[in-house]
Amino acid sequence: MRYGIFGDIHGNLEALEAVLADMEAQGVTHPLCIGDLVGYGANPYECLEIVRALGCPVVRGNHDDWVTQAKNPTSFSEDARRALDFTRKKLNPGQLNYLRRLPYVKLGDTWTLVHATLDGPENWGYVSTRLEAETSFLYQKTSLCFLGHTHRPAVFIKDHEVRPIEFRRVDVHPERLKVSRKFLFNVGSVGQPRDGDWRAAYAIYDAKSEIVELRRLNYDIDRAAQKILKAGLPESLSKRLFKGE
Ligand code: ZN
Repeated sequence: MRYGIFGDIHGNLEALEAVLADMEAQGVTHPLCIGDLVGYGANPYECLEIVRALGCPVVRGNHDDWVTQAKNPTSFSEDARRALDFTRKKLNPGQLNYLRRLPYVKLGDTWTLVHATLDGPENWGYVSTRLEAETSFLYQKTSLCFLGHTHRPAVFIKDHEVRPIEFRRVDVHPERLKVSRKFLFNVGSVGQPRDGDWRAAYAIYDAKSEIVELRRLNYDIDRAAQKILKAGLPESLSKRLFKGE
């Protein structure tokens, strides 16, 4: 089994298409989606339909959640609010119902999927620091957890302590060090990376070799950015794509 873990698509169709094409080329057999299908980008309708058609496990992101509600959260920036209003108008009732039914957490045999954190997944906290990772690990029953939300790829490992490690190719074989280890992977963002690298991000977990690999992909960013402007969305949402922030 080769899993392709992806999310934080945010209505960026060009980035999503690049990721799905790469998954196919890489022999991914089982896609897993960590949520935030919509918000910010110009193609929420299309992105939602594509992910829904995959029929794969999908968890709920904060944008997926807020778009189904009548009011915008006060914590949102003006840009995010405008994007939310735009997204709400683009989706049909069936799509909004689909988002309403998404679970916060999905469990597989070796993995857990969540959008934000395992401690209170509905509170939309972030896992950026060691302490935040440690708190989320308390609720992690499987050896692997995949999440997103910060739009920055990262890995935390827990054995005798919790610490961040580099995310390129990570061997998650549990017996190599003769300790039971847990891993928490932030797979980055397909449609709006914020780690200074504009390329679309996702991860492949090969269950046989027990390697988790981060993928970064070029996509037609000019087209995605142009569409944001054409849709009348804030210019900053178009510009930030190029900066990867
Ligand atoms: Zn997001």
